[in-house]
Amino acid sequence: MERLLNFINGELVPARSARWLDVFAPATGTAHAHLADSDEHDVEAAVQAAEKAFPAWNALGREGRSAAMLRLADLIEEDMDGFVADESKDNGKPLALARRVDIPRAVANLRFFATAILHFSSEAHLMDDVAVNYTDRQPIGVVGCISPWNLPLYLFTWKIAPALAAGNCVVAKPSEVTPLTAYRLSTLCNAAGIPPGVLNIVHGLGPKVGAAITAHPKIAAISFTGGTRTGAEIARVAAPMFKKLSLELGGKNPVLVFADCDFDLMVKTTVRSSFTNQGQICLCGSRILVERSILERFRTAFVGQVRLLKVGDPSDPDQDMGALVSKDHLEKVLSYVELAKSEGGRILTGGEQLHLAGELKNGWYMAPTVIEGLGPECRTNQEEIFGPVVTIQPFDAEEDALDLANATPFGLASVVWTTDLQRSQRVARALHAGIVWINCWMLRDLRTPFGGVKNSGVGREGGVEALKFFTEAKNVCIKL
Ligand code: NAD
Repeated sequence: MERLLNFINGELVPARSARWLDVFAPATGTAHAHLADSDEHDVEAAVQAAEKAFPAWNALGREGRSAAMLRLADLIEEDMDGFVADESKDNGKPLALARRVDIPRAVANLRFFATAILHFSSEAHLMDDVAVNYTDRQPIGVVGCISPWNLPLYLFTWKIAPALAAGNCVVAKPSEVTPLTAYRLSTLCNAAGIPPGVLNIVHGLGPKVGAAITAHPKIAAISFTGGTRTGAEIARVAAPMFKKLSLELGGKNPVLVFADCDFDLMVKTTVRSSFTNQGQICLCGSRILVERSILERFRTAFVGQVRLLKVGDPSDPDQDMGALVSKDHLEKVLSYVELAKSEGGRILTGGEQLHLAGELKNGWYMAPTVIEGLGPECRTNQEEIFGPVVTIQPFDAEEDALDLANATPFGLASVVWTTDLQRSQRVARALHAGIVWINCWMLRDLRTPFGGVKNSGVGREGGVEALKFFTEAKNVCIKL
C-alpha cells in the first residue's frame, strides 16, 4: 500500500514516531494508503525548516515567489488525471466533479495568488504638508494552515497560496481523512523550484498535529477551515498567545424561494446546491424556505428531480453522487435522519443508507434526503449535518422568511430566489451571512471576500483580504 510521507525541509520523510494511520477509499470502504501519524516532534522539525527558509524566500521577492508558484500550478495541471483520480478515490466524490471543480480550482488558487501578489499595493496617508504615512506590509514569518476533507486540494491551496505569495513560510496540515492530493502536491514542490523549508506538510491527526501547530509559539498566524467546535478549540489555545486567526467554520445555509422566482432554474439549481459533493460543501443550502403559495408545486418538482439523482461508483460519469467521506460521517448523517423523525419530520424521499453491489458493497453511500414538517427551533434545523439532507419550511411574508433564515447560530452563505430586484437587495442586506447568492449558487470570483458571521467564523479569505491576513501592516510616518 502506498505510504504518504511528510514533506519537511524539501524531503519526503516518515513521521518520527514511525507510526502509520490507515486512509480509506469511501467508494469501497477499504484502506488504500498508510499515512504518516505525526506529532509535535514533526511539527517542530517543520517549524525549524520554515524559520530557516524564511529570509531567502522573502528576499526572493514577489516575482521570484510568483514564478515558483506558477510552475507548481503548471505541474499540477500537467498531472491533472492523477490528481483527479486521487481526489475522487480519497474523498468518494464523483471523478467528474474533481475534474470540473476541485483540481482546476486548486490550480486557479495558485495562479490567482501568484499573480495577485504582483498587483498588491499598500496605502499612503498624506497629512497635508506636515507628514506622509505609508503602510509597509511585511510577511508574518512562519504561518500554519489547517484544512478539512470536503474539498481537499481546493481548500488546502486556498490557504497556502496567499500565505506563500505574501512571503511567508508554511507549516500545513491537510485533513487526515483525505491527505492524498496534498501528498501528491508535495512531490512536485522541488521540481517547481520552491526552496526547501518554504512549504512543509505534516500529516496526521488533528488533536496531535493540528494542536501542535496551534500551540507552537513560533507560528504567529493560523488559517483554519473546518468544524465550528474545532475552530473554538483553536481560538481557545491561540487567542491568549495573540496569534492572528482566520477561522472558516460550519454553516446551516438557508435557501429563500419567493413565489416570483424563475421556477425551473431555481429547482434545478436547488437540487445542485443541496446535493453537490453529497451535500458536503460548507456552502450547500440545507434549509429550503419556500413561499407558501408555491409550496406544493415546489415539493412536487424538487422531490421529483431529487429522486432522479443517481448515487453510485464515483468513477462512473453517469452518477450524480458518490460516497460519503467516512463510515463515521455516514453514521452521523444517518443519526440526524433518525433525530428528524423523532422530532416529527416527514421523510419525503431518501433517508437511508444505500447498499451497492460488487466491489462497492462496503462503500458509504446514502440516498439524497428531503425532510418536511419541522419548525425552525428543532435540532435538525439548528445543527450542521453536512451531508445529503435538506429540510423544507414554508413561509408567508418576506419578514417571516428572514426570521427563519436568520434563526440559527450560523451565518456562512445564503441563496435568494426572486425576480423582484428591490426585494433581492432588501433581503440580501438583512440576511446574517457572509455570502449571499441571488438567483445563482457557487458562482465564485476569487477576488471577493469569503467567510462567515456568527458561529461560521472570524475573518475573511479571498483576494486582497487573504493577502492582508498573511501580512502585518506597519505604518511609517515621515515628517516633511
Ligand atoms: P474538522 O474541524 O474535524 O477538521 C478540520 C481540520 O482540523 C482537519 O485537518 C483536522 O485534522 C484538524 N483538527 C481537528 N482537531 C484539531 C485540533 N484540536 N486542533 C487543530 N486542528 C484540528 O472538520 P472536518 O470534519 O474536516 O470538515 C468539515 C467541517 O468543515 C464542516 O463543519 C464544514 O462546514 C467546515 N467547512 C467550512 C468551510 C468554510 O469555508 N467555512 C469550508 C469547508 C468546510
